[in-house]
Amino acid sequence: MVSRLAVKGGDATRTRPWPVWPQPAPGVADVVADVLASGRWSISGPYRGTDSYERRFARAFASYNGVPHCVPAASGTASLMLALEACGVGAGDEVIVPGLSWVASGSTILGVNAVPVFCDVDPATLCLDPRAVEALITERTRAIVVVHLYSALADMDALNRIAERHGLPLIEDCAQAHGATYRDVRAGALATAGTFSMQHSKVLTSGEGGAVITRDADFARRVEHLRADGRCLADAPPAPGAMELVETGELMGNNRCLSEFQAAILTEQLTILDEQNERRRANAALLDERLAGLGLRPQSTSEGTTSRTYYTYAVRLPDGELETAPITAVTDALSAELGFSAAPCYAPIPANRLYAPHTRRRYTLGLVHEERIDPKRFALPVCEDSARRTVTLHHTALLGDAEDMDDIAAAFGKVLRHGAELAL
Ligand SMILES: *Cc1c(COP(=O)(O)O)cnc(C)c1O
Repeated sequence: MVSRLAVKGGDATRTRPWPVWPQPAPGVADVVADVLASGRWSISGPYRGTDSYERRFARAFASYNGVPHCVPAASGTASLMLALEACGVGAGDEVIVPGLSWVASGSTILGVNAVPVFCDVDPATLCLDPRAVEALITERTRAIVVVHLYSALADMDALNRIAERHGLPLIEDCAQAHGATYRDVRAGALATAGTFSMQHSKVLTSGEGGAVITRDADFARRVEHLRADGRCLADAPPAPGAMELVETGELMGNNRCLSEFQAAILTEQLTILDEQNERRRANAALLDERLAGLGLRPQSTSEGTTSRTYYTYAVRLPDGELETAPITAVTDALSAELGFSAAPCYAPIPANRLYAPHTRRRYTLGLVHEERIDPKRFALPVCEDSARRTVTLHHTALLGDAEDMDDIAAAFGKVLRHGAELAL
């Protein structure tokens, strides 16, 4: 007898538990206890005679990425807004950004009073399509934000050429790419600045957190002021008990500081990032092979990629098969087989129900602005097609062993065989 789909009441392909995320590094409990007893829970508290964990993490993360400057921040969202403002982006400026990403890629641009211009992506990498970027540049374009999505790096050679030709800053959103390399340079170190998220789901996490990295000292100084209410850290530490943040008034800011608890966790989590990335990479390679054998097409990365990392494993369904089944029917069936949540890839941002500028009174900046930010004015055929045909798995699924990859492939195989039952 042919077994039925688990989603239709049959036996599941797998019932064993999956790895959990996040996984604390061995030293985390000690450093958190150290912060608790230290008398300093934020860089905006008084100096206590030793380097803050924030400074230590900034040094470690800059060095890990091969750049001179890192400014930690409260979140990936904060980091993106800081980087945009440090580029001089402001009221009415256009910022080109991929249409296929987490909603924050659009909302952060709105958040600095600028206009997101959603751009289509490359169908193989799901990252910005350089030719589509070039077609969207106008005299009002003030910056380009590139997202290294899921497990891929964008075509940075082409994007840097375009940015240079038009004299535009290029920000890399690396919320999903900690540790990846392109021509042996880290993601985030390839353009004007790189921004990171250390939110719970990301491959380097402290629950919430973020950072901006750059090679440009003036840019870093602007980010420092923007994230600490117009203050920056003193060049040399003050006397114990005095404030380390100096009120320069050079540039007005808002508080977007990372707490000492989060910075301490990140210094330890960073020490296990490479090993975890390597484990995910090895498992993803096995899965690529097994799924390609079933006619599925794993997301590919740009030609210059030298080391790929996996925030999410993304794979495209075979042409023809399951074409009449809604993607959520496919992901529900896979989730039921695996006991692990499979999800469709992101909806194009203008079609994402979370992207709703009209629900925020702060964006009612006049009729012209409201028309320019109207999500309905963007056509993104590749984003839309990818959203209909791409299945994603969080990187937790890649932290186990080869048997786990066999189970994932078996679940895909079973769902493909039963595809007709999922059709509308
Ligand atoms: C997670 C994420 C963000 C936002 O980061 P937060 O820390 O959640 O604010 C931005 N861009 C991308 C691509 C992300 O994945």
